[in-house]
Amino acid sequence: MILVTGGAGFIGSNFVLDWLRDLGEPVLNLDKLTYAGNLENLASLKGDPRHIFVQGDIGDRALVERLLREHRPRAIVNFAAESHVDRSIHGPEDFIQTNVVGSFHLLEEARGYWQGLPERERLDFRFLHVSTDEVYGSLGPGDPPFTETTPYAPNSPYSASKAASDHLVRAYHHTYGLPTLTTNCSNNYGPYQFPEKLIPLMILNAVQGKPLPIYGDGLNVRDWLYVGDHCTAIRAVLARGRVGQTYNIGGWNEKPNIEIVKTVCDLLDELRPDPAGPHARLLTYVQDRPGHDRRYAIDARKIERELGWRPAETFDTGIRKTVRWYLDNVAWVEHVASGEYRHWLEQNYKAR
Ligand code: NAD
Repeated sequence: MILVTGGAGFIGSNFVLDWLRDLGEPVLNLDKLTYAGNLENLASLKGDPRHIFVQGDIGDRALVERLLREHRPRAIVNFAAESHVDRSIHGPEDFIQTNVVGSFHLLEEARGYWQGLPERERLDFRFLHVSTDEVYGSLGPGDPPFTETTPYAPNSPYSASKAASDHLVRAYHHTYGLPTLTTNCSNNYGPYQFPEKLIPLMILNAVQGKPLPIYGDGLNVRDWLYVGDHCTAIRAVLARGRVGQTYNIGGWNEKPNIEIVKTVCDLLDELRPDPAGPHARLLTYVQDRPGHDRRYAIDARKIERELGWRPAETFDTGIRKTVRWYLDNVAWVEHVASGEYRHWLEQNYKAR
């Protein structure tokens, strides 16, 4: 059994679904179910004895201690986090609480559990911490992509909180010998992503004929990876990664935001034409995000060389799958779009 934290969120739920489909090893899923956690992502696992869901906080030491003692997982994969940069600008406290303090408590409990394991199990145990390329800061147009040795230079409360947790993970390996692994991945897209993030937000707004808000000049560059490829990369690192190491994960797909949105519009024009005209008519430039990093790019050669991992999707195949998924899963979309998300969206986008 493995313990997955944050397994009801976007990447965590994709990871749990793919893991059980491909490997079948039981998963204990600990998730607080914040606005971003959604058990509907895991609806296909209802009644599946290989999936045990527990609603709770990674910072709840007594709960984590009990879960580790009772279920004896061979690994922990930590996805649990506050993950949205804009929210971290409006309210950083939750980010410090979960990403820094929560990760610390989880590490402490993992350390106690690991130290008490019999030697064979202690050798095999892994703590894999899922992190982001945003910890490396912003690149200029001609700069080489981030490698695992690029100095950390986080610029938002979100990336600073993730950087802090990465450093704690590193320290727990260096100081206590906890067998840790850290992955730093580029922007993910795919099914079950909460529609505050760029790609699902654009798909949903476009099909409803609503404006497509583009920050600044739309030329901020991100490196995009299909979520299923992120999940296979994490599996490779968990299975074969060298303890104490970090691995950058990316798809070699650098693209300016405006190009992403225009691609989504073109796909919608093909798959769901709007009688009112091309979806790109809805593009609306809005005031930029404060401190908006200009460019992220990932050098993924280490994971490719050491672990033989390669993404299965190109951007063209992945984005087509994604747009189709949102069009085919109206019930999921309508549900998330009707609740807390709607309130947040109104608060944050009306003023612009
Ligand atoms: P998400 O916001 O969709 O999901 C986060 C999940 O964590 C939710 O289910 C939420 O309920 C849960 N959670 C939050 N606080 C918790 C707590 N204190 N205890 C237990 N559960 C808690 O995020 P995501 O996009 O799936 O990202 C998952 C991880 O991957 C994060 O650590 C993020 O930093 C990292 N990451 C994300 C991306 C991306 O593009 N989305 C890229 C690289 C790395």
